[in-house]
Amino acid sequence: MQKYLIDYRDLQFTLFEFLKVDELSAFGRFAEFDRSDYEETIRLVCRIAVERVFPANVTGHVEGCRYDPVTKSVSLPSGYKSAAQAIIDSGFMSISDDRDIGGTGMPLAVQSCAWEVLCGAGGALMLFMMLGHGAAMMIHRHGTEEQKKLYVRKILSGEWGATMCLTEPEAGSDVGALKTRAAPQPDGSYRITGQKSFITNGDQDITRQIIYPVLARVDGDAPGTRGISLFIVPKYLVGEDGTPGERNDVFCIGIEEKMGAHGAATCSMVFGENGGCTGYLLGERGKGLNIMFQMLNETRLEVGIMGLGGSAAASLFAVNYAKNRLQGPHVTRMMDPAAPKVPIIEHPDVMRMLMWMQACVGAERMLSYYVAYQMDLQHCLEGEAAREAKALVEFLIPLIKAGNSENTWLITAEAIQVHGGYGYCRDFNVEQLAVDSKALSIVEGTNGVQSLDLVMRKILLNPDQYNYSVLKSRMRRTVEESEGIVDAEYRESLLRGMELMDKAIGLLKGLMGKGDFKALLLEVDPLRKAFFDLVLSWMHIWCLMLVKPKLAALTEGLPEGSLEAAIESSKETAYYYGKACTSEFYLATELPKYFGKMDAILQSSARGFSGGSRVFAYLPGS
Ligand SMILES: Cc1cc2nc3c(=O)[nH]c(=O)nc-3n(C[C@H](O)[C@H](O)[C@H](O)COP(=O)(O)OP(=O)(O)OC[C@H]3O[C@@H](n4cnc5c(N)ncnc54)[C@H](O)[C@@H]3O)c2cc1C
Repeated sequence: MQKYLIDYRDLQFTLFEFLKVDELSAFGRFAEFDRSDYEETIRLVCRIAVERVFPANVTGHVEGCRYDPVTKSVSLPSGYKSAAQAIIDSGFMSISDDRDIGGTGMPLAVQSCAWEVLCGAGGALMLFMMLGHGAAMMIHRHGTEEQKKLYVRKILSGEWGATMCLTEPEAGSDVGALKTRAAPQPDGSYRITGQKSFITNGDQDITRQIIYPVLARVDGDAPGTRGISLFIVPKYLVGEDGTPGERNDVFCIGIEEKMGAHGAATCSMVFGENGGCTGYLLGERGKGLNIMFQMLNETRLEVGIMGLGGSAAASLFAVNYAKNRLQGPHVTRMMDPAAPKVPIIEHPDVMRMLMWMQACVGAERMLSYYVAYQMDLQHCLEGEAAREAKALVEFLIPLIKAGNSENTWLITAEAIQVHGGYGYCRDFNVEQLAVDSKALSIVEGTNGVQSLDLVMRKILLNPDQYNYSVLKSRMRRTVEESEGIVDAEYRESLLRGMELMDKAIGLLKGLMGKGDFKALLLEVDPLRKAFFDLVLSWMHIWCLMLVKPKLAALTEGLPEGSLEAAIESSKETAYYYGKACTSEFYLATELPKYFGKMDAILQSSARGFSGGSRVFAYLPGS
């Protein structure tokens, strides 16, 4: 079995040199923590990830989940329970939650770092933690005092599992089409009937009790999204003393045969098949989708973090493989049949693949933790400063969810490419990382839905575009502050890129004004993708601004030609050198592509779609 690899130095850089997360101790909320507390947590996370989570994840990929139709129950891979317990016992499920509900109270930025590492080690297992965490926080924020008392601590402590039940066979992205019904009962509870599909961990054998937050419509309530309510459905009905008792009428009727994430059971669930499924209203009637969407904002960041974790792991496996695999001569002796074979990392094309992966991972890490940090600041700041932090969070989350999840599929594919044929086999972990990663662009709102959220809701339908203007002012600030440190060419490119973005948004606004929604919606996803390139470029300029002075200080006064030796002898010099080169690589090779993408949008690529769905009319189909 391979060993799980972690770039601990870059985690440190992102938390302490970029974000300076330890400075949050200036705020009462985080006053009790200092850098050593955060470092200790991340070191422990790395140890648990390497020793407990990764081995369970690798065997779980082969073993998969088993469904027993007689008992209607699911068994997860054999190593999962103890690996999950190791995460729970170390408090990693609840690092950033308040102490009064059993959390550690650390910043979300630190939890994001921890979860990135754990997700890279075992994404399928981490779904158990993430979904449970999301459900618990939903009850914590919207439940009655009694509901909070009954459920929140039990879920966050890992004693009970929890899910999210939105999807139905006829209601995927179109959640408003759901058919699950809720009938009010004289005792204030509801009788739930319906079917949900794709429910992650709808059944499992880590915990006996499972809590299902279920979206359903109360009989007679408005059709569409407005009439949807949210219900807590426990697998075992909970007595007033908090003890699970009678079995509720909710059962798993099968699990999906998935492409990846084999260790997480994706279940078809039936509620009330025997007429006896009891649910309890969570929050206000008819506001179920609002509550779920508030939660989805956070879970979307978590999906982005999960994508980042997989990308980081794949990138490190690829670098390690490329350092060891010998094939062909060095480029400088490519015509010499007697030349010795070199590690493939020396071949320019392999180098290019590795640098692209590394550059995406570094910038995605900065961006994802940056947003988590803004969420922390939201709780610490007041007035305009808090409003700005919130604006950045709202704007950047769909970009991170879609961008990181899209990239993880591409990065894991590139990691397989670096491994050649061996990467396509199960002997190397990149195969699992690739198949596990694909679902991330589909869950918690497909990436198409993220694009609509960003471009329509956050930009075009937002009258003052406050979120967008806050982001632009932060980007401009980085360009100003990096003067004299980062090449003018890159800084000017970013400013030019921002101008083009304004222009493209103006164009889409014009299409909306004319009511040309077809042309407008064709540009929404391309614009979101280009925007992601732009914000990653922003991160790379910021990164160069931080690392170039440090590299200069470390190499100051070195005699000419001795850089190689300095990199060999000093890990710090090697780190900053690699970091600076990687950021320059991105700005020199990826940022130019942004301008091509924007060109297509500005020339209205809708012209190329004149045929519409008629293009496919002659093709066979069922
Ligand atoms: C591994 C896995 C785990 C999951 N876990 C859960 C879970 O725990 N709980 C849960 O409730 N669900 C879960 N899901 C379901 C997931 O949320 C849905 O698959 C997702 O919402 C998409 O719905 P769908 O599959 O019906 O696709 P569809 O909605 O049919 O979408 C198909 C395609 O059409 C596009 N599309 C659809 N409507 C529009 C539109 N109006 N405009 C533009 N494009 C559109 C989509 O973007 C997508 O590309 C899981 C799915 C997977 C694969």
